[in-house]
Amino acid sequence: MRLLMAGSPGSGKGTHSRRLANDLGISHIATGDLLREQVAAGTPLGREAKVYMDRGDYVPDKVMVDMIKHRLSEPDAEKGFILDGYPRTQTQATELDKVLADLGQQIDAVIILEVPVDEIVERLSARRTCPSCQRAYHMRDEPPADDERCDDDSTPLERRTDDEPDTVRHRLKVYADRTAGVIEHYDVDSIVRRVSGEASVDEVAKRIHEALGF
Ligand SMILES: [Zn+2]
Repeated sequence: MRLLMAGSPGSGKGTHSRRLANDLGISHIATGDLLREQVAAGTPLGREAKVYMDRGDYVPDKVMVDMIKHRLSEPDAEKGFILDGYPRTQTQATELDKVLADLGQQIDAVIILEVPVDEIVERLSARRTCPSCQRAYHMRDEPPADDERCDDDSTPLERRTDDEPDTVRHRLKVYADRTAGVIEHYDVDSIVRRVSGEASVDEVAKRIHEALGF
């Protein structure tokens, strides 16, 4: 099976992509990980991508397409894969179709994990990190024992500026604008499966399986 998993920041997309890949025995391909691996290995693509990343810019579509093409040509991807975090733009979706067509493949289904904006804001804005030991907390789901201090070293916990409610809302807006075209692209072929991600991890995993017809 060849799948795409889409979902906004905080939707649980990463967790569910990994879990589904594991359940189906297919490869989990996350573009963020791919980028980091290529940069760390110092490959030509990694060096090119690093120039943009160091400037805080998006890595251009062309570099991403080359990276995906390279990854999808590896032997383990033959038995199927789930792409996590890609394509993010309509251009990338069109290019992905071409890459797959060259390999004699196509996408079987696109899963969109839907979570209401207010729930995402609540999930992300409740995240805290200890600046001293980097331990992660969640004020709703995994709070520290003592107010907002680290259990291990009592350092006051911090919230990333990215996770401030206003910033989260802005990130969600940017995400929605960028991905609208991608969803439209796949909607044409009726392979989009919308799944509500507002439930426990086990329940959402079950819904994903059902949406895929298992
Ligand atoms: Zn700590």
